Amino acid sequence: MEEERLIASGWQSEDGDIETSLRPKSLREYYGQEKVKETLSIYIDAALRRHDSLDHILLYGPPGLGKTCLAGIVAAEMGQNIRITSGPAIDRPGDLASILTNLAAGDILFIDEIHRLSRAVEEVLYSAMEDYALDIMIGKGPTARSLRIDLPKFTLVGATTRAGQLSAPLRDRFGIIFRLEMYSPEELCQIVGRSARILGVDADREGLLEIARRSRGTPRIANRMLKRVRDYAQVRGDGRITQEIASEGLDMLDVDQLGLDRVDRNMLTTMIDKFGGGPVGLDTLAASTGEDAITIEDVYEPYLLQLGFIQRTPRGRICTAACYEHLGRIKPTEDNIEQTTLLE
Ligand code: ADP
Repeated sequence: MEEERLIASGWQSEDGDIETSLRPKSLREYYGQEKVKETLSIYIDAALRRHDSLDHILLYGPPGLGKTCLAGIVAAEMGQNIRITSGPAIDRPGDLASILTNLAAGDILFIDEIHRLSRAVEEVLYSAMEDYALDIMIGKGPTARSLRIDLPKFTLVGATTRAGQLSAPLRDRFGIIFRLEMYSPEELCQIVGRSARILGVDADREGLLEIARRSRGTPRIANRMLKRVRDYAQVRGDGRITQEIASEGLDMLDVDQLGLDRVDRNMLTTMIDKFGGGPVGLDTLAASTGEDAITIEDVYEPYLLQLGFIQRTPRGRICTAACYEHLGRIKPTEDNIEQTTLLE
């Protein structure tokens, strides 16, 4: 189950207590994503000089990469308030109308999982984003009339894990679109280093780097691992996180040196053993591993693709030579196919 996994990139209740304290509050404390930060700070500067609000911003990328953080930072840097909600929380057009009419000029409205808005709600958003106005129908039948309400000039920051699922009219109304990338081990090392300082955890650079290497390019996972390794260090060591302690602690939690856990390995070995390394379709893979297709696509796959362990082809997913090697398997080729068959 996704909830039980240390390396799940989605938010879990165990993140609640520390995530708030670890959230960077300014662009300076927000490590990595250099290109995004550079462009964003130019837009922010320009808007501040014009005494204007920012264009609407769409952030997309896998969970845990810092989309919510970035929205908060945009609000702080603009000196404005932020209102946070999410696609599934806005049930009806009236819910959105009440959120919008309660905004003040310059406010940032953050909608997480914006791809999950219903079509009816999305349509209300079009004129709100474009004309800063709401068109509301009053009454029914022949006496119905439409009423236009002006809205303050606000900035919508939308976040999604699936940019492809956003309808074209909604996507086109964002003036700024950023794709967040997975973080390098060096960047993650800086992030957990900062977290360790805030939490008062004693750790050396090699220990932090070991956590960084195993956290799948994702700050949320890195911070969660830091917490678990801190506990391990207190019980099995003298409280200090060294490479040895981090490595032992994470091995014990079944996270391997590249950050893959049991579920990843099960998915990859299923592809190899049941489907000859692919191509295998997403739904077939989901059915044979008992995992949810959307979770596979949003959560496991981005990292496996990044590692170059799987590739997407028009006929389905395939395992690469690097994947076979990591799992200690031999990839069947023209030359060794007979040998591999014999071994089986
Ligand atoms: P998302 O909205 O993409 O799921 P969040 O913004 O909630 O991700 O980030 C999850 C956690 O990861 C945050 O609480 C924060 O501690 C940490 N984090 C994310 N990005 C960064 C970053 N660039 N620098 C430092 N910490 C980060």
